[in-house]
Amino acid sequence: MKVTVLVGGVGGARFLLGLRELLGATPFPPHPDDPTLGLGEHQLTAIVNVGDDAWMHGVRICPDLDTCMYTLGGGIDPERGWGRRGETWHAKEELAAYGADPDWFGLGDRDLATHLIRTQMLDAGYRLSDVTAALSRRWNPGVRLLPVTDDRHETHVVIAKPDGDEGERVAIHFQEWWVRHRARIPTFGFAQVGSDDTTPAPGVLDAIADADVILLAPSNPVVSIGAIVSVPGMRSALRTTKAPVVGVSPIIDNRPLRGMADECLSVIGVESSAEAVAAHYGARSGNGILDGWLIAEGDRAQVDGIAIGSAPLLMTDPQATAQMIRAACALVDVAMPEQNVGTE
Ligand code: GDP
Ligand code: CA
Repeated sequence: MKVTVLVGGVGGARFLLGLRELLGATPFPPHPDDPTLGLGEHQLTAIVNVGDDAWMHGVRICPDLDTCMYTLGGGIDPERGWGRRGETWHAKEELAAYGADPDWFGLGDRDLATHLIRTQMLDAGYRLSDVTAALSRRWNPGVRLLPVTDDRHETHVVIAKPDGDEGERVAIHFQEWWVRHRARIPTFGFAQVGSDDTTPAPGVLDAIADADVILLAPSNPVVSIGAIVSVPGMRSALRTTKAPVVGVSPIIDNRPLRGMADECLSVIGVESSAEAVAAHYGARSGNGILDGWLIAEGDRAQVDGIAIGSAPLLMTDPQATAQMIRAACALVDVAMPEQNVGTE
């Protein structure tokens, strides 16, 4: 089977653990001489959000790609859910002692090595997708990790200009809004900032066109999934693929499970409910992107053209997440194996 998943960071990464549990690992990066070597029965591809990516202290940071890579590779800090296990913060402290900006971003020492290698490779002319494959050689994620685009496609946030006149606006990077301001300042919208001719990264459109099923992880609907779908060409690829598209709700009982997805939804005028998020994505039979939508037991949703089902939606461990994925696929008549038939 070919399964392609749209993912952000923490929610997306946990979802991928469940998918790998269900279907087994896909070698990534592929063997340089024989791309089919070790290829199991199934091919798992994650299309990862790059809207959170930023330059800080001269290095390129890709939080969602790294969260997926570290989580699947066993290097994630399990409590925080992001960054490296066993992290220390000496470089951050030293930067602060110099008064270097930004001082609000958690740049760990171990993590810094990843950013240094990435930055060197980007400077040498490699594409972000090449860099991701190179970094994955160490982490062996078992899922093909593709940045949705190699181009700059950052999410910026429109806020009231500090000390500005009434009605004056300014845009700040999403990371500053999320990490520094905890999304708790008056906010007027999101905008993708980057190149004028952003295109999907190599392999992304094929992974959508050739899939047997496309899954939307329970990632942030606005700044993760929304940012992915906003890459030119992505929306029409999702609308025209022969594969069914099914999503899992990140909203349970009218609240996001963790994080501040509700703050993001309220900025774009969408209620924090499983139903409102499904309606926001819309049915493929209309002008949206979904055929199916899995919500938590106890929630309700009804959207014309979208098959709705319910199941336990807590990703407590990969086995529970695997069950969730099986339930999501069943909604669009895609049968997943009962057992892990993986190649691990
Ligand atoms: P981020 O980039 O680190 O913010 O991560 P994502 O965008 O991938 O995922 C964030 C979303 O994951 C949040 O909106 C949470 O509601 C959702 N989430 C986290 N854990 C769970 C879970 O166990 N079940 C479900 N259904 N959603 C979850
Ligand atoms: Ca993110």
